[in-house]
Order: sequence, then C-alpha cells, then structure tokens
Amino acid sequence: MKVTFNKPYMTGKELHYIADAHARRHLSGDGYYTQQCNQWMKALTGSHAALLTHSCTAALEMAAILIDIKPGDEVIMPSYTFVSTANAFVLRGGVPVFVDIRPDTLNIDESRVEAAISDKTKAIVPVHYAGVGCEMDTIVALAKQYGLAVIEDAAQAVQSTYKGQALGGMGDLGTYSFHETKNVIAGEGGALLVNNAQYTERAEIIREKGTNRSKFLRGETDKYTWVDIGSSYLPGEIIAAFLYAQFEEAEAITRRRLHIWDMYHESLKVLEEKAVLRRPIVPDECQHNAHMYYILLNTRQARDDLLSYLRGRGIHAVFHYIPLHNAPAGKQYSRYVGDMSCTITASDTILRLPIFAELEDAEVNDIVEAIYDWSSLGA
Ligand SMILES: *Cc1c(COP(=O)(O)O)cnc(C)c1O
Repeated sequence: MKVTFNKPYMTGKELHYIADAHARRHLSGDGYYTQQCNQWMKALTGSHAALLTHSCTAALEMAAILIDIKPGDEVIMPSYTFVSTANAFVLRGGVPVFVDIRPDTLNIDESRVEAAISDKTKAIVPVHYAGVGCEMDTIVALAKQYGLAVIEDAAQAVQSTYKGQALGGMGDLGTYSFHETKNVIAGEGGALLVNNAQYTERAEIIREKGTNRSKFLRGETDKYTWVDIGSSYLPGEIIAAFLYAQFEEAEAITRRRLHIWDMYHESLKVLEEKAVLRRPIVPDECQHNAHMYYILLNTRQARDDLLSYLRGRGIHAVFHYIPLHNAPAGKQYSRYVGDMSCTITASDTILRLPIFAELEDAEVNDIVEAIYDWSSLGA
C-alpha cells in the first residue's frame, strides 16, 4: 500500500477557467474571476467584504495593519497554531501573548483569555483548529467588554459553522487559506473577510499598495494616489480562475471529506473505548468541514511508534505544531500566560491521518486496519 498524506484535488474545470481568463486578456488582480470568488465568499459568510489575497498569511498581515498594531501592542492567541498567526503581528512590532488550548477541541481555551488581557492588548485571535469553531460567543463578548478586535484565523475553516454562522464571518475580520493542503485550493491563496464595515475601505487600500485604486476602478474617484501604508496583497486572475473552479465544487469536496472523516470516526470508536487513543471532539454547536482527521495517542512514544509503523506500511501520517511559545522565534518575540500543558500534550501525542477527496473507502479501511494491527487488538 502507498497512501500519501494529501493529494490536491482538481475538479477538472480549473484549466477551462484559466483558458477563459487568458482569453479575457486581464491577468492582473481584481478582474472577472477575482470578483466571482469574492462574491462566492460573501454569499458564504455574509461578510461586508471578502477580498482575495495571495495567502492567508497575507490576509493576517493586512489584519494587523488594519487594527493599527504598533510596537508593544499585544495580541492574544493560541500557541498551538501555524506560525503565520503570530508572525503577521510580530512583523508590525506586536507581541503575541499565548494561552493554552482546550483539551477537547484543541482550540484556544476561552476561559484563559481574560487573564491574559493587559492595557496593551489590542486583539484576540481565535484559530479554528481542524475547521471546528472556537467558543465564539464567549470570545466576542470578552472582546466587546474590553474594547478589543477579534480576528478569526479561519485558514482551515472554509464552509464550517458555529451556531449556524460561517467561521471567519463572526470576528471584526476573518482570514481564509487556499493553500494546496486545505480543502479548497488555489496552490497559494487566501482571503480577508471584513465583517466590521468600518474596516472595508481601508482594507481595499492596504491591499492595493496603499492606494485608492479600488475606488478609482469603480469610478468613485477620478484619479488614484498613495493614501496610506500598504502592500501588494492581491493574486492575479489565473489564480482566481483556478480557485473559482474549486468554489463551484466546494460542497461536493466537503461532502466527500466528511464521508471519510465519518468512516475514520466510526471505525476507530473501539480503540477509543479500549483507551488506545482519543478521537476528535466536535461540539454540538459546530458543523465542521472535515479539514483534518486526527487521533491523540496516550504518550509521545506511542505516537512516534504508530507514525513509523504506518510509514512502514506505506501510509504517510503526520503530526504538527511545535508550540510557538517554545520555538526559537517565539521565545524572542512573544510571551505566554498560564500553564501550557494541553498545548504541549497535543503537540506530543497528535497524529493526523490522510484525508483528501480522492482517498478511497478501501484505503481508509486499510489505514484503520493498520492502526488496529499496531494496537495488537486486531481489526
Ligand atoms: C494554513 C494556515 C495558515 C497559512 O495559510 P497560507 O495560505 O499558507 O498563508 C495560517 N493559519 C493556519 C491556522 C493555517 O492552518
């Protein structure tokens, strides 16, 4: 058997739309396909504006500029996340302040956020891990009480909801990723969702090199000029054309992934009952998008052992997130508040199983069988 961890799914329509973008002779950003993509995301999230970017990292950087992060300003976030969540703020002189995650969802532990708030705190950045929503009601209420911005890192959470609301659509700002390891992809790509309308005009300016070019293109001003700081955060039309083909199939992609997720979940139940591993927990108020199927082993040694056992059987499982507070740059640029034991345990014991739209049922069964064989309980 040979099963890769991920295989980027192509819908078959990508090249058709790319050919069309080519024929339209508009290859820079904000043409027809970018507009189609932005509209699709607005319809999905109800956001005031959705702006395609060249990555989620870029969207997070835009968010840091939008909320005016100045040197020394603090931003509360989990340590158990991808580097860009923190780096975007560090680039502006901000200080990530990490708190521990919840043991169930591995999302930021909302009950630990208040203790991390200081007079320098500017924002809370919940990361919807594995496409499962953070406890947004509590986080939004805290932010309101202390006058903080909420920026959702919804990189993994396209098409997930919390109490029926799209992830990425609840904070002042939200960010998506369309990196090829995510559910719907553009190779490299992302988006900024603007839910608080006060940020919309400036978001357009920051994305267009600090100019009011977007207004100019809409005929709302007769010239365009340098009005603010900014950079070039928009992708070209080829990327947008590719992504639009994926958006059209997004529901089918998610349905297929959910089927695989459910297969893993059902088949591994017995191993959880026998205390060999723990399966993901999805709170009732969260509909997830099957971005990830992970298991948590009892010890780091068990995790490492199963990982190499699976590799020996041709199955490429992976683990991730060296906690940011312990990483070399984390020690230099950030601080943390409280005990970080859930973060460390997750990092030590997690194992992510292959999940992608083209993974076949038979392959899922083989992977499950391999895990049972390893546990020596038999399938
Ligand atoms: C993938 C990911 C990112 C970065 O996305 P890019 O589009 O590659 O910049 C940021 N945060 C989280 C939680 C992610 O999973």
